[in-house]
Amino acid sequence: MPGVWRGYPVWLADVLRAEGLKVAELVGWRRRGHGVFSDIRGVMVHHTGSDSATAESIALGRPGLPGPLSQLHIARDGIVTVVAAGVAWHAGAGSYPWLPANTGNWHTIGVECANTGTSPWAPHRRNWPDAQYGALLGSCAAICRRLGQPAGRTIGHKEYAGRAQGKWDPGAIDMGILRRDIAARIETPPSGPTAPTDRYAGVLLERGSTGPQVAELQRRLKYAYAAYAGALDINGEFGPDTEAAVREFQRRTTGLGVDGIVGPATAAALRLRLVSSQA
Ligand SMILES: [Zn+2]
Repeated sequence: MPGVWRGYPVWLADVLRAEGLKVAELVGWRRRGHGVFSDIRGVMVHHTGSDSATAESIALGRPGLPGPLSQLHIARDGIVTVVAAGVAWHAGAGSYPWLPANTGNWHTIGVECANTGTSPWAPHRRNWPDAQYGALLGSCAAICRRLGQPAGRTIGHKEYAGRAQGKWDPGAIDMGILRRDIAARIETPPSGPTAPTDRYAGVLLERGSTGPQVAELQRRLKYAYAAYAGALDINGEFGPDTEAAVREFQRRTTGLGVDGIVGPATAAALRLRLVSSQA
């Protein structure tokens, strides 16, 4: 059944890396946890209460609460550490419309961000560095996309356990704004200096490709980017002229590697829906 993920999310590190995030893997993360997920329905965001809390401390836990305390840890420099693939003690008592009462640990991936949270009344992103906030929304978007769920499946601990436990984390995060940012990120796959180029993300079309998808690419380039692709022939053959137009498009688009190859990132930037031929 699509969208239901029983078992261990051993795909976490790969999915985060594909999002262009800086990922660290704590040794043994695939086997760490308090058992197996019944099904993963979403993501729950936390702050640790300290700007310097480490991923190791999340793995270890504390007296009376053995770790892991969450699956992911996000440091202030934006490094996302995968701590565990098993169930973690992060949610505790609480409720939310798509979660049975007090079952958050078995249905959500916990994300602990090294942050004091400032205060329950702090404005959005006070004391949240760009690198950490960017890694948070990238992580949530990557996981929601993988689960086949919308941004609404990312919630804050305060939304789940505010009433039950008086939780206010993540502090200085307006969950409505975070979800809006996640929704935009889900729509527009990663781009930026850390994004892998299409050569590594998977080739959809390249020099030598032929067929209706090439014609669609040529049509898009010719009519949407007439300034430099207006003379392109729509013949369904990916030759030197098409490659030159693709390179020019990549050069003019922030975050794309210039390699003349149409992979997922370039196709998304062109708003082309292409199907991989290596199905
Ligand atoms: Zn929390």
